[in-house]
Order: sequence, then structure tokens, then C-alpha cells
Amino acid sequence: MTDILIIGSGPAGLTAAIYALRAEKSVMILEKGAFGGQVTFSPKIENFPGSVSISGNEFADALVSQVIEAGGDFAVAEVTGLQKTEKGFLVHTTDTDYQARAVIIASGARHRPLGLPREEDLCGNGVSYCAVCDGAFYKNQKVAVVGGGNSALQETLLLSELCEKVTVIQNLPEFTGEEKLLNQCRQKDNVELIPGYTVRELLGSDALTGIRIKAVDSADEQVIDCAGLFVAIGLQPQNEAFAELAEVDAMGYLVTDDSCRTGTPGLFAAGDCRQKKIRQITTACADGTVAALEALAYLRQTEDDA
Ligand SMILES: Cc1cc2nc3c(=O)[nH]c(=O)nc-3n(C[C@H](O)[C@H](O)[C@H](O)COP(=O)(O)OP(=O)(O)OC[C@H]3O[C@@H](n4cnc5c(N)ncnc54)[C@H](O)[C@@H]3O)c2cc1C
Repeated sequence: MTDILIIGSGPAGLTAAIYALRAEKSVMILEKGAFGGQVTFSPKIENFPGSVSISGNEFADALVSQVIEAGGDFAVAEVTGLQKTEKGFLVHTTDTDYQARAVIIASGARHRPLGLPREEDLCGNGVSYCAVCDGAFYKNQKVAVVGGGNSALQETLLLSELCEKVTVIQNLPEFTGEEKLLNQCRQKDNVELIPGYTVRELLGSDALTGIRIKAVDSADEQVIDCAGLFVAIGLQPQNEAFAELAEVDAMGYLVTDDSCRTGTPGLFAAGDCRQKKIRQITTACADGTVAALEALAYLRQTEDDA
């Protein structure tokens, strides 16, 4: 029986682990993918207070090391379901079952696909959701990025250092990322920004050779030659496994109060997986702190009641 089980090893889950371990509780962190979470896809983090510039991988490594040194246990497993028991929770995974007195869900979100025909088939053969992971495969080639927020602009800047040309397609009339990033993209000779267009078709049979784009407010269509297409159009939560014990909103995000409490006592949600407006590392860490302190208060309460 673990005191606090944490689902997901992103900034929210690992911050929660640090607080719980410092209160001398036993902590088990279950992770189905990369330790460190989504930040491992981030080329550079330049908005985390106290750190001028750090790569996502370095940030994740430091966070994971901090939790290991504090005594946290990690296991690679995908949580497939949660059950409330008399003493706490039974956590089902693809590997084995775990028991915990309290659970913090910090399952984050994953990349949203474009939803175009053959997108899945071309994934790995031209279509990518991560410039940090796949950018080097397109060295000195033409690529395109879809999206207009901070992630899309960061990916554009990274790709502009590697690729011959980067064309950025955004469906809105304006790019929505930070002005600083946008200006950095505008200053690059090999970056072309095309707002007001959507990607209609992925071209090429076995591997991507280009994309067909269409104007949002006219019939204009263009073909952009590119060997790689990087999709950065936002996120979708991955909370299906928890829906029985925690309410999700229409978008699939977990509904909590300001203290990261779900409707089930002892079950908390922190970070990008929960319903909120701003999804950043700082807000994920803030949630992790709140969820852990609330989980500790819950454990104290159950001890007092016993
Ligand atoms: C390319 C990119 C660049 C970014 N750059 C920045 C930046 O510069 N600054 C910034 O502040 N933010 C940035 N972000 C956003 C930031 O990474 C997220 O806001 C932050 O990582 C959210 O943390 P989290 O812990 O809530 O979730 P995540 O980091 O998403 O971690 C959740 C973890 O839970 C795991 N998981 C999910 N479901 C299960 C399950 N059922 N069982 C087990 N494990 C599970 C996932 O595998 C994942 O590792 C960027 C994001 C991307 C994609």
C-alpha cells in the first residue's frame, strides 16, 4: 500500500512527488511514456522562472533525478482503470495492480492529430508531432509546420536551424503565439508564415512529398512541396481510464475545484489533464504543489478518523 500514487511523470506529477516525499510519505509514480512528460518534446524552455534557457530534456532529467534522490519509486506502466476500495484505491495497469491511500492524476495531454486521410499511415514517413524528436530526419529539406501557437513557433525556430525552408500554416488570420517568438520567426530568411489557410490533403504515396492548403475565406488552393509536416495544433487529454471516478468535461479534461480535488475523496488531478485555462510548466508545477498538499491533508484526516 503506497501512501500517494501519482499517474504521470510530467512537471505536475513530479512536483507533487517532491512535496509528498518531503513529508516522508511513500510515493509511486507510474509512467506509460517518457519520464518527464511533454517537456521532453520542447526544444527550449525560456519561460521557467530562475532558468534563462534549458532544453526540455535537460529540464526533465533534472526533475526526475530530484525525485529519485528524494526516494520516489517509478514504474513503467499505463494505468487502465481506477477503483475505490475501503482503504483507498486499486490502480489497474497494463503490468500489475497497485494499492494506494490517495491518488494524484497528472496524465497531461497529447498532440492533437489533423484528422486527415492517411495521416496515421504517413506518421514516421513525413508526418510528425515533435520537431525535437524528428527534426534531424529532415536536415536540408523543405518542411511545413501546422499551427500558430507557442509550440508551433518553437518548433518552427528549431526546424529553421536544420531545414532548407519552413512554411508555417495557421488557420486563423493571426498567429497566436508570443510576440517575441513570432518576431524571431519573421526574422528568419528561410521561414514563410501563411496565416488564414488550412491543410486539406497530404500528398505522396509511401512518403510525404507535399501538402495541399486552402484559404479559409476564399477558394484559393496551393501546393507546398515538403518532405516533412510537423503538426502542432494543440492537445487532447488522455483521461478515459479515470472517467468512472472523476468527472470529465466536454473536451475530456478532469473537473476539479481550486484545490485540485475531484469529486471522489482522496483522488486529485493536477496539470494539463485538468480543466483550466493556462497549460504551461509553471501552472503544472503549481497544480502539483496544491494536489500534493491537499493529498497530505486528506491522509492526515483519514488517520484522525481511524
Ligand atoms: C513542443 C512543446 C513545447 C513546449 N514548450 C513549453 C515551454 O517552453 N514552456 C512551458 O511552460 N510549457 C511548454 N510546453 C507545455 C508543457 O510541456 C506542459 O504544459 C507540461 O508538460 C504539462 O505538464 P503535466 O505534468 O501536466 O503533463 P505532461 O507533461 O503531459 O505529463 C503527463 C505524463 O503522464 C503520462 N500518462 C498519461 N496517461 C497515463 C496513464 N494512463 N498511465 C501512465 N502514464 C500516463 C504521459 O505519458 C506523460 O508523460 C510545451 C509543450 C510541447 C508539446
